[in-house]
Parts: sequence; structure tokens; C-alpha cells
Amino acid sequence: MKQILSKDDAEELVATRRILHQFPELKFQETRTAKLVSERLQKLGYRVTEKVAGTGVVTVLDTGKPGPTIALRADMDALPVTEENSVEYCSKHQGVMHACGHDGHVSILLSTAKQLQACRDQLSGKIKLIFQPGEEGGNGALKMIDEGVLDSPKVDVAFGLHLWNGLQVGKVGICAGPIMASVDEFKITVIGRGGHGAIPHQTVDSIVVASQIVVALQTIVSRNVDPLDSAVVTVGKFSAGNTFNVIAEQAVLSGTIRTFSQEMYQQIPKLFERVVKGTALSFGADVEIDYQRQCMPTINNSIMAEFVRSIATTVVGSDNVVSNNQARTMAGEDMSYFLSRVPGCFFFVGSKNENKGLNYPHHSPRFDFDEEAMPIGVEIMKQIAIKFADTKGQL
Ligand SMILES: [Zn+2]
Ligand SMILES: [Zn+2]
Repeated sequence: MKQILSKDDAEELVATRRILHQFPELKFQETRTAKLVSERLQKLGYRVTEKVAGTGVVTVLDTGKPGPTIALRADMDALPVTEENSVEYCSKHQGVMHACGHDGHVSILLSTAKQLQACRDQLSGKIKLIFQPGEEGGNGALKMIDEGVLDSPKVDVAFGLHLWNGLQVGKVGICAGPIMASVDEFKITVIGRGGHGAIPHQTVDSIVVASQIVVALQTIVSRNVDPLDSAVVTVGKFSAGNTFNVIAEQAVLSGTIRTFSQEMYQQIPKLFERVVKGTALSFGADVEIDYQRQCMPTINNSIMAEFVRSIATTVVGSDNVVSNNQARTMAGEDMSYFLSRVPGCFFFVGSKNENKGLNYPHHSPRFDFDEEAMPIGVEIMKQIAIKFADTKGQL
């Protein structure tokens, strides 16, 4: 792989990431992160708009030449996880950790901002850099869109990346169509009739009914979803009862549903409701459902995916660009909201390195990534801006 950044720029990229890593902030509390982003951008000559969707920062590089407006996006928030790594740049905020790699994303986009200023004459149109708060269950992307982040100048295409420990460092994962799943959250309260553990015929046993619901829910994936499509139904929590000889009046289940295709995303709430209500009814129990949509599937435009694939090939070589199931996951991303409004592509930059012990999954208290992945991210983002401008927005 060719040397991408100068030594100074590569060192700055790592140093910035390590500062961010030490001071992680939860969704919509990214004030310190936003301040760093804003100051760095201003030092590079950018005019910034702050406090978008609370703590988001947006800037536009206007080349003054006609051309498309391209959005490049990084998310900024950390997770309520206590870091178990013993690195020198370990989190200094107790109970908060950059366990998803968003510290790397911010650092990559700041470095891209610097690279773009340096190659301004190769660019045309406008490049909007979006530093987004609240990705981890906050739908910060949607809040930014509601506050007009895709307007004035109107964004034509959007790109984003995720450092990804599912892929070896040096690899890039891109696929057309769905790349990440939707995230729905549900809570089911089964209301039966409690009573004596030895006299069940006078009761409606909420535990038995809820257990049937757990099993029946699995038939959505096995019997309702096209086997060539994908979905997941997980009951993550089951709580009921207080003691061994009392039939519980209520049982509460909560869990998550993931889908990939737009069709299944639209259909799944109805299928879910039918199974839950039908099962409860068949046992004479009542049921209350609380069903929340968190984010939709992240779906890449096929032309944009091909465009990014061709760029990634020039950066890491065609053997290192992977697609399909090596580049997809049933985890969710609120980048989906940008890509539902404008065409674009979200892609994975491999960041796992077993030799360095950097192979823990995202959201783990031991998560860390190979920082060698970051210059690859910078180079691809920079090339996207240069080459998309070349196409005059016509791919
Ligand atoms: Zn995450
Ligand atoms: Zn993430």
C-alpha cells in the first residue's frame, strides 16, 4: 500500500484521535468534541456553523466553481461503557468510552478537511463537512436533517465511513444496496390472571403465554421473511414472577428487530403485531405493545457504491476491496437517514489487527482499532471529493 499522508499529517491524525479517545462524550453531550472540531476547522480557514442538532458542527468548502454539493459525514458520540483497555490514551471520563470508533471518524474527517484545503484547485462545487452528534441510539442524523443540514447549499450526494473491526486493516468493505440493517425496539406486556401455583385452571399464566410469544416470534424470520432476504428478531429481556408458587399476572418481554430490505422494513411491524396479539388471544391473555422505530436500513445507491469501490481500489488495491457478506452487518446506523434523502454510499474501513490484539468487537469495553486504518479513510474521503466533482454530478 502506498504512503498516503505525510508523516506530520499521519501523526496529527493519531494524536487527534487519542485526544478524542481520552475525553469521550455521550450522545448530544459532545460539547468538548464539538469545540475541538470547530477550533480545528477555523484554524484551517473554514467558517463553521455550530450547535446543529444540539452539538453538531457543519462547514462548507466553497470552491467558487460550479459543481455538485457533496456531503462527507462523521459521527462524534461515545457509549456508556467503562473502558477496560490499559493504553496511555485510555478514557478519562468514567463510564464513557469511544467503543465504536467515532473518535477515529472525527479525526479522519478533520484530516480530510485539511487535505481538501491543500488540494482546493483540484476541486469544484461545494463540499459540506458534517460532524454529527448522537449516532448511538440518538438519531442525530435525522435531527440534523430536520434542522436543514441537507439544504442551503442543497446536498446532492452523501458519503460516510465506519472503521470496522469485522474487517482486517487494509481492507475496505463496500456493497450496493443494504449495508446495515434497520433497528426497531419493542416491549410487550402480557397481562394474564395471577393465582396459586397449584391451581392453574383458575389463572391465565402470563409466563406460559409470553414463552409461546418468544417462540412464535421466531417464525417471522423462518416463515415470513424471504430466505434470500435477512432479518433478526431478538428477545433480549424476559421478566416475570416473584416466587415459585405463584402464577405471575404479568410478563414483560423486550427486544429488537433488524431488517435489511425496504419491503421487510415496511412489513415487519404488522407481522410482529399479528403474531403477538394472535398468540396472546389464543391463550386468553391481554397484551400491550410498545413498538419504536429507531432507524431504517442503510441502503447504498448502486452507482455511488461502484464509484466508491473504484476509488477504494486505487487506494488499497482490488484484492483488498470486499463486498456482500464481508461488508454487511445487521447492526444499524443512522447514516440511513442521509441515504434515504440523497444518493450516496456508506462503507467500512477495516480496522482489526489480531497481531496487535486489536480484534475486539465494537461496543466491547476492550474495543480498540488499528490506527493505520485512518489514513486509508482520509484518502478515500479526499478522492471522493475530488473525483465526484470531476463527474460534474453526473455519474
Ligand atoms: Zn456503535
Ligand atoms: Zn458506530
